[in-house]
Amino acid sequence: MALDKKSLKMLAGVHPDLVKVVKAVSEFKDLPQWQVTYGLRTLEQEKEMIRKGYSSLKNPMNCRHVPSGTPPLGHAIDISVLVGGKPCWANQYRSSYIKIGQAFQKAAQDLNIPLRSGFQWKTFLDLGHHELPAAQYS
Ligand SMILES: [Zn+2]
Repeated sequence: MALDKKSLKMLAGVHPDLVKVVKAVSEFKDLPQWQVTYGLRTLEQEKEMIRKGYSSLKNPMNCRHVPSGTPPLGHAIDISVLVGGKPCWANQYRSSYIKIGQAFQKAAQDLNIPLRSGFQWKTFLDLGHHELPAAQYS
């Protein structure tokens, strides 16, 4: 599956290691259709996400979507499953998110890039979220 225009646009400003993982997953066969729906987020956007309860963070500065480091780069992306060409988060597609999430983990392992994926989190499932850990990438 080739990455579509929106996915490529969303990858602008994202750390090259994470882009490598995304590109590797795009070459996996037999995955449900997906797209990168979020790359970078501004501090203001993250504050709004926290206010609305879409983000479990308390400090918006800890959001991996908000660019950090020198030069500032994003360290997280969100993907969506596409149904009929449109992003879909309905519960019935949960298994598709998990399948794609497992592909992200596999690709990251093959590339020797540490990756944290929201589908594996215990307290706040974030099925489409993938990030480079803060411990290794500031
Ligand atoms: Zn996210």
